[in-house]
Amino acid sequence: MMFDSFPEDIKKYIIPKVTGELYFKCLGCGEEYSIDKLLYVCPECNEVLLLHDRNFKDLQKIPGRLWQKIFDYRRMLNIPALKGIYRYHEFIGSCIPLESIIYLGEGHTPVVEANSNLQKKVGNKFFYKNDGQNPSASFKDRGMASAISSIKYLIDNNLISDVIAVCASTGDTSAAAALYASYLGPLIKSAVLLPHKKVTAQQLSQPLGSGARVFEIPGVFDDCMKIVEHLSNKYSVALLNSKNAWRILGQESYSYEIAQDFEWDMKNRVIFVPIGNAGNISAVMNGFIKFYNADIIDSLPKIVGVQSEHADPVFRYYLEPDKSKRKFVPINTKPSVAQAAMIGNPVSMPRVINIVQQYNKLSNCQNVFFVQVTEQAIMDWQLTANRNGHIACTQGGECLAGLVKAIQLDIITDKETAILDATAHAMKFSEFQDLYFKSDIAQEYKIKSDPDKINQPYLIMPDNPDLTPSQKKRLGQKDFQKFVKDISDKIANALNLKGTL
Ligand SMILES: *Cc1c(COP(=O)(O)O)cnc(C)c1O
Ligand SMILES: [Zn+2]
Repeated sequence: MMFDSFPEDIKKYIIPKVTGELYFKCLGCGEEYSIDKLLYVCPECNEVLLLHDRNFKDLQKIPGRLWQKIFDYRRMLNIPALKGIYRYHEFIGSCIPLESIIYLGEGHTPVVEANSNLQKKVGNKFFYKNDGQNPSASFKDRGMASAISSIKYLIDNNLISDVIAVCASTGDTSAAAALYASYLGPLIKSAVLLPHKKVTAQQLSQPLGSGARVFEIPGVFDDCMKIVEHLSNKYSVALLNSKNAWRILGQESYSYEIAQDFEWDMKNRVIFVPIGNAGNISAVMNGFIKFYNADIIDSLPKIVGVQSEHADPVFRYYLEPDKSKRKFVPINTKPSVAQAAMIGNPVSMPRVINIVQQYNKLSNCQNVFFVQVTEQAIMDWQLTANRNGHIACTQGGECLAGLVKAIQLDIITDKETAILDATAHAMKFSEFQDLYFKSDIAQEYKIKSDPDKINQPYLIMPDNPDLTPSQKKRLGQKDFQKFVKDISDKIANALNLKGTL
């Protein structure tokens, strides 16, 4: 769309200027730090940080209705830097000039309503937001676009050089980190640490393909995380885990998109998010709070965090109703098909505690809930969703199992609409589907394959082995026709096909 035909009142806002003054704020002692350096925890008290904008009050001076209009018109621009998460530049990283923004196609993922068959089965109206349709096939690209753009900004300003980026990962962070780092070519090298045999083959192939150094470590994600923390304390490396506050900032875009996709009306909406390291749920709540404080949305949607019973430290923390008695205890995880969320000691727990409190206070009621689901429910609901046109990963299945649980617990009513985070693409986790279909999931998972859900390929061979075509030996025309007829008859028989008239 031609800039000239944009409405007058938004013209001066449509291309964002560098207006923000961002700083890190410690969630422990409240100390503030400059963003000109790579920083992940408070040097004073070692707590995690969040990014804030000193000029946020200037954003609040613009009426919410005008912001809505700005974002709706910005949707029509053809400026790559503004096509992804930075459509919401003023709220995502307003200190970063457009030239430093890295855009690889992330964000603005489809919101797909469940068909009537599935809605009936579940008992509530719901949508999936398909974050598996991001460039590295998970929502992690949102946070990575932000983290890597912030690094590019520091490089462009000669504040850092020769960056070595590291992360620990349950699979998807490393795929995103390696992809975005590889785009910055020689300016940045990346190394990823993965728990040996605890990521899928597809996830392992991603950082390898992007050219990252890949280290496999015995143990689980929580062990890898400790090593990466040690490295980032002792050596000069850029940490790309969600400990990095820039990751959280970028992932707030998920909420902004939901607000825009639902015409800025958040009444009677319930957002379901699977929880692992708890970075995503922190970001999702934070995003809605910022839009609410800027009057862009006039109510805060309900939030439901979902955990597997095999990795549920956040759920357990909130089981205690008395706030003053709650105590966070890390847990030992058990094997989970929601492997990307299989974390016993979430790095963002202090963020969750802080933001949940703010969220409920602003909502004037309890508006954040946590539910726990079985491994069986995760697998069964994932497969059921995907048999109805979705592309949910196991964590997306966890979300749907969470919705079913929330209905049982009256956390959600049929007057409300659920929006579930399909956090990664189904294909990344197809190993679990294969094992389920072969009734071969290891016992510790406690999952039985439902025969009605099993699906296997059928190999159809001709009766006469001499009539088998191969690349080496092509059949003669007559034999080939016999082969085609034989196989077709068998398929027609299997499908119970009727003859044409
Ligand atoms: C990382 C990840 C999660 C968990 O998100 P956190 O921010 O760690 O809580 C869930 N699903 C998928 C597919 C992931 O990659
Ligand atoms: Zn501190």
